[in-house]
Amino acid sequence: MMSRSGRQLRHMATALAVLACCLAMAWLTYVIALGYYSRAHIAEVAQRSSFYALTLESQLARYESLPRIAALEPVLLDLLGHPSDAELRKKANAYLKAVQTNAELSAAYVMDSRGDTLASSNSDEPGSFVGSNYAFRPYFTEAMKDGTGRFYGVGNTTGVAGYFMAVPVRDPAHPERRAVGAVAIKASLDRYETSLATSGDIVLLVDRDNVTFLSSVTGWRYRSLTPLSASTRHKLDETRQYGGTALDRLGAKPSGFGRSGARPEGPGAASGPDSLDVAPFGGHSDSYHVVYRPVGPLGWKVAVLVDPSDDRRSALFASVSAAAATALVFALISVAWLRHSRKRERQRARMALSEVQRDIEQRIAERTAELTRANATLEEKVDALDVARRILRDTRDSAIQAGKLAALGQMAAGITHELNQPLAAIMTLSSNAVRMTELGHFADLTRNLVLIKDLAGRMGKIIAHVKGFARHEAISRESVSIAESLHQALALLESHRKTAEVSIRVEPVPRDAAVLASSIRIEQVFVNLLANAIDASAAAAKRREVRVTTEVIEDVVRVSVADSGNGIAPAVMSRLFEPFFTTKQTGKGLGLGLAISQAIVDEFGGRLLASNGHSSDGNSGTIPDLGGAVFVVELHRVTEESDSK
Ligand code: ADP
Repeated sequence: MMSRSGRQLRHMATALAVLACCLAMAWLTYVIALGYYSRAHIAEVAQRSSFYALTLESQLARYESLPRIAALEPVLLDLLGHPSDAELRKKANAYLKAVQTNAELSAAYVMDSRGDTLASSNSDEPGSFVGSNYAFRPYFTEAMKDGTGRFYGVGNTTGVAGYFMAVPVRDPAHPERRAVGAVAIKASLDRYETSLATSGDIVLLVDRDNVTFLSSVTGWRYRSLTPLSASTRHKLDETRQYGGTALDRLGAKPSGFGRSGARPEGPGAASGPDSLDVAPFGGHSDSYHVVYRPVGPLGWKVAVLVDPSDDRRSALFASVSAAAATALVFALISVAWLRHSRKRERQRARMALSEVQRDIEQRIAERTAELTRANATLEEKVDALDVARRILRDTRDSAIQAGKLAALGQMAAGITHELNQPLAAIMTLSSNAVRMTELGHFADLTRNLVLIKDLAGRMGKIIAHVKGFARHEAISRESVSIAESLHQALALLESHRKTAEVSIRVEPVPRDAAVLASSIRIEQVFVNLLANAIDASAAAAKRREVRVTTEVIEDVVRVSVADSGNGIAPAVMSRLFEPFFTTKQTGKGLGLGLAISQAIVDEFGGRLLASNGHSSDGNSGTIPDLGGAVFVVELHRVTEESDSK
């Protein structure tokens, strides 16, 4: 089973993997989308650049035939033949003015073969071309040499830029002769430039030297896209194409062609940079891709800058969408997986539940069967028990009856035996007494009669014992000296002790060992305990000894009788104080001694305890142990207080 932290780690790893997937997808989409959008944008811009180029070309085409037609005018030829003729000059000026106005030109003028302007449309305006020499201008030299001269540049006299076109003027009568002069027109491209500025694109018109001369962005005119070589600079200075402008660099991007850049075509077309680091709208400069389209007969190019930020924005949007879509896909997958696993879990739980149910049902069935069996057995047992109880009751009743009879028989046998002996002696002594009376042996007779009296007394005592056990009589209490009671009891047992060959040692009795009781009864208790101790010691073969110890413990007098007998067997111990319980032979014991003794001790508020000497009861410190039984009598001591009561 996976631990909690392990599960968390796995979830975290999964989340990171999903995140990485989303990021990778976003990055991939960005790269692909950027490529796609850039290409599409470039293609679109290339189309527009064609449009800009075609517009310009159609405008330039309009000027193409103009100077040729103008050159057919005879007044111009005449003027070239008679340059100092004021009338001709006037006519020529008027004619050129009409051409300029009608064709919406900036200027129209005629130069002689040296380049000196003889007549001009602006002859009557300040900054008239008349008198100026334009032999340094390429359009003049090309016209004179090749038949057509085209040029774009800043006007040397006016300082206003324009498109110049010149054609030679020949004598129609001698077309093979050298040209006598040239007619030139100057057209403004300002309107075209204005239309570029409103197009929304960043459009530049670049000449063959990569110098911009028209721009939709203010301030980007007369800037070079590539570093200008010394020879180029020299040529520009010579032709005064852009007046004295510094021609600063536009964009710091090094020159070179990109694969997607449109390569300028045509002979002499200078290469342009495929991207420019510029900031057309202020702010930070960005790397703009440049799409070129060749235009016109002078090796010009329409350069349209492609704003990369749009593509980046679109690509970014696409990448964010892709990341979101990926995340969504993952979310859907995880939801589906969760559903699936929940379903599986539920199925498993259902299966487990039904299994448990089956198991429980089976167990219940088993238990029920077991219980039914047990119940049946129990019922059988109850029946058997009832029978047993009945038998037991019957048996007990018979046993009680039998016990009673046995006790009675035993008692009768005991009493018979006890009484038989003195009775037999009395009978013998009385027979002897009769004989002695007849013989006149009165002294012997007297002794006999004393003996008969003693024996009768003993019989009376036996009967009194039985009576004492059977009847409960109220007894008067007195202070009984333990020492005296013990002395009396020992005297009574002296002959028995001698016969049994048992020695009795009485430990010194404390002087205050006196109890409140009846002296006869206390003597009876001691006689019983001592007689049993003598019997038990006599039964043991080894040493025959009895020891009596008396202690005074606060208000209690404790008398212990220990013997060297075999002790009390466990089976006997539990029945010790039962009336008529004896282990002695018939005639030897009545089984009443201990029962009577306990009854007496109880009567005086004391207690009688029996134990085997070797068993410790915690109080046995001073109780002598001779290896046999120990009987302890505890009675309340007589104090002055109790005495005065
Ligand atoms: P009896 O002496 O007539 O048998 P008791 O009531 O005095 O009747 O004693 C009952 C029984 O207790 C005796 O038969 C004997 O088995 C047992 N018993 C009494 N005293 C002792 C003793 N000191 N040692 C061993 N057994 C004893």
